[in-house]
Amino acid sequence: MDSLQKKDIRALSKKQLRDFFESQGDNTYRGDQVYEWLWKKAAHSFAAMTNISKDTRKMLTDNFVINHIQVDRMQRSTDGTIKNAVRLHDGLIVESVLIPTSSRTTACVSSQVGCSLDCKFCATARLKKMRNLNPDEIYDQVVAIDKQSRLYHGRPLSNIVFMGMGEPLMNYNNLLKAIDKITGIEGLGMSPKRITVSTSGVPKMIRKMADDGVKFKLAVSLHSGIESVRTSIMPFNATFTLTDLRESLIYWYTKTKSRITYEYVVWKGINDTQKDVDALVAFCKFAPSKVNLIEYNPIDDDAFKQASDEAIAMYVTTLEKRGITVTVRRSRGKDIDAACGQLANKS
Ligand code: SAH
Repeated sequence: MDSLQKKDIRALSKKQLRDFFESQGDNTYRGDQVYEWLWKKAAHSFAAMTNISKDTRKMLTDNFVINHIQVDRMQRSTDGTIKNAVRLHDGLIVESVLIPTSSRTTACVSSQVGCSLDCKFCATARLKKMRNLNPDEIYDQVVAIDKQSRLYHGRPLSNIVFMGMGEPLMNYNNLLKAIDKITGIEGLGMSPKRITVSTSGVPKMIRKMADDGVKFKLAVSLHSGIESVRTSIMPFNATFTLTDLRESLIYWYTKTKSRITYEYVVWKGINDTQKDVDALVAFCKFAPSKVNLIEYNPIDDDAFKQASDEAIAMYVTTLEKRGITVTVRRSRGKDIDAACGQLANKS
């Protein structure tokens, strides 16, 4: 069998792996051992599985492949941020980022190659969506960044944000499978409370997540509380309207009791008036939430310019006055195009 016809062994569940070994006349326990190598130990080859006999390893090599990622290029920013160009088994590239602060190291990971959506201010949206990432490709990004965190910062990864390339809720099943492995004791054993999934806002999927009882946190890239403004900068808002989004978020909070984070960039001439702030305040009142004001990272488009310091101050003052928690987030890794919205495989 040539390697293109062989099945990716990590597409098998633990049960399927156990059954496979049984069908080979071996002990199902062998399936558990191999499963541990594939996930917890994140082995990239059968040769690495040293407690498995040579014959069994050969049999596995004859039947399966391990489609693992490869960090093709690593760039380090002056602020400690690391950006990885990650090569997938079929040659496509995605990017992932490690963001260190004094108290945590955060992995920003991708969920799709390119993106399904069309936000006008985002560099990734200019790449068309090529495909969804598989669960193992999402998992591998986290494993790679955890290793870098230990190597360069002397501590394990503490948080994960799905704010890299792609729209995670458009790849929901694989996202959930990856998070299962990241949080499970048979994987990395991280707490789901340390994981944030960021979405442009797909109401149907937000409801589904709430129904599925997921334990990770939700962030929504809002950018405007006014229907027409949001549609002009995020055209899919014509289909997934703010009204639907609002209803889905109320549903989310009712079911999960988990506070929502709104990510928000303030742009000159687009959403920098008092009317825009008031619309955001009104939106925040529908469900318990907080606001992250993100600095704009320019992507060679004259239509978008970071708003003035006065406009940002107006947002902060108004939100605080209305009892809404607001943080102003400075960009990290700008010098290596690793900041929000800059991931576009430039290299
Ligand atoms: N599709 C998901 C996750 C990827 S984008 C989402 O939309 O949430 C991650 C965050 O970066 C989002 O909040 C997005 O709105 C923001 N972003 C996109 N382009 C940006 C830019 N040029 N400058 C600053 N933030 C940007």
